[in-house]
Amino acid sequence: MTSEQESLFWADQWARKVIERVESDEDLQKVVKKHGYICMDEKTPSGHIHIGSGRGWIITDTIAKALRNQGVKGRFILGSDDIDPFDKFPSYLKKETYEKYLGMPFRDIPSPEKGYKNYADYYFSECTEKFDEFGIEVELQSTGENYDKGLFNDTIKIALDNTKEIQDIYRRVSGEDSAGTKKLPFNPICEKCGKIGTTEAYEWDSEREVVKYRCRKDLVKWAEGCGYEGERSPYNGGGKFPWKVEWAAKWPSIGVTYETAGKDHFTYGGSRTMAVAIAKDIFKYRPPLPSDWDETGKGYEFFTVGGRKMSTSKGSGVGFATISEHVPPRLLRYLLIRTRPRAVLDFDPYDSNKLLLLYDNYDATERVYFEKDEKENKREVEHEKRLYELAYVGKIPKKLPLQVNLGHASMIVQSTNFDIDHSLEILKKTGHVKKTASKEDLDYVKNRLKRAGQWIKEFAPEQYKFIVQEKLPAEVKELSKEERSALKKLADIIGTGKWKEKDLESAIYNFAKEELTPKQVFRSAYLALLGKERGPRLAQFVLSLDRKFVLERFKA
Ligand SMILES: [Zn+2]
Repeated sequence: MTSEQESLFWADQWARKVIERVESDEDLQKVVKKHGYICMDEKTPSGHIHIGSGRGWIITDTIAKALRNQGVKGRFILGSDDIDPFDKFPSYLKKETYEKYLGMPFRDIPSPEKGYKNYADYYFSECTEKFDEFGIEVELQSTGENYDKGLFNDTIKIALDNTKEIQDIYRRVSGEDSAGTKKLPFNPICEKCGKIGTTEAYEWDSEREVVKYRCRKDLVKWAEGCGYEGERSPYNGGGKFPWKVEWAAKWPSIGVTYETAGKDHFTYGGSRTMAVAIAKDIFKYRPPLPSDWDETGKGYEFFTVGGRKMSTSKGSGVGFATISEHVPPRLLRYLLIRTRPRAVLDFDPYDSNKLLLLYDNYDATERVYFEKDEKENKREVEHEKRLYELAYVGKIPKKLPLQVNLGHASMIVQSTNFDIDHSLEILKKTGHVKKTASKEDLDYVKNRLKRAGQWIKEFAPEQYKFIVQEKLPAEVKELSKEERSALKKLADIIGTGKWKEKDLESAIYNFAKEELTPKQVFRSAYLALLGKERGPRLAQFVLSLDRKFVLERFKA
């Protein structure tokens, strides 16, 4: 922390709430003594995981970091709910190959690609392999393995012994029609066919500690059971809780003190309200923040990219693993930490300058952090510094990295036809990169140039795109005599000496004002160089081009 004062940053505020609750609750003190301050999240790896889930991962990671900054052992645990049943068919999987696995736990289904343990491992790893790039520090767990190890054995026994009470909670919270009002709170894995989505437990023998079940052909529409009837121990991986009971059981079994989720889980009567009631009434465990004994709390808002709400089940929208190839993870992290979790976030980088502005904002925050930009408001300064600390991926450098803004970088890469080394040479020539620049700075600038090229090719609106014309564009013929003469005079001005960008900028402007109108002169210059009426900032652009080329073109 940069200040003795209490930070107003949202993650610090949540971390403080967590610590205050623990300090006022003896039972929770025992929990954190054993486990640390566990901030939990979980995801079913049912297919490509979408960027919307990434918001939760970054929020939880940030709160765990904030807890560590406040001197306690903050831990982020992310569970892969790999024992959940395969219940929906993603459009990108071959039906012939995968249809037979419907109803089975994801971890018992083969991986679509070689090199992964199973289906769940493949789709979960696709995201977790990117976590370093996003600065996410996490302990990964397999929920299936947690069942195997017996982590839930105690809660399974408590839940089954309290079947009637759990059914009452379903009735109270979700209504009489809810399926949970009639079932046992446990789904066994069929010992004959291995499916978990098709079994129905109908009796719990609490003395022998076995669950009697049928594997039904007609239990669900999406999978067919084998008809087997038997009994088995529910412990050590014999099956799993239904989701809402499982959520509540994880909290005491793992020792969770904070767990958020998307706001859709927090609607009244939804899964969080159920989990809160079950945790309180059945497991006697205080539900983690943002919930409490009798309070559901509120989840985070949706995060959409490209205007579409991303849903894993629909199989549409941008994937977490995919997006990092288009937008730098560090910028997404910055965006998600800068925005309060309760604010809707719709980020559409396509055909807009939104990504360019995000780069500019990131650079501005970086300058405040390194005290290169003066800001009047002290609170704002503290806020920006804290944002930078929490958003930075890796170890924060000792001094301000060499900044070349994305707009400038995109102008340079376009004038060199996307040649990164040539672009770097130009930046050296124009003094934006000093000859003494460190290797780190050179790498940083090169990376920025690459990303600028990507922005132009993928996202930038037409107005930002241009091609320097090798031959005199035909459009120049449309210029008036006066305009062509103005270009010749402009060439003389540019040719007079070594210009600094700012000085040339005002020289061109003053000349244009006296000669014709600025609009006419700028338009003529862009037509001569690019064959279009608009272009990048003229002085900066002209200085980045070969001087002889510019003079000849304006005099042609
Ligand atoms: Zn079966």
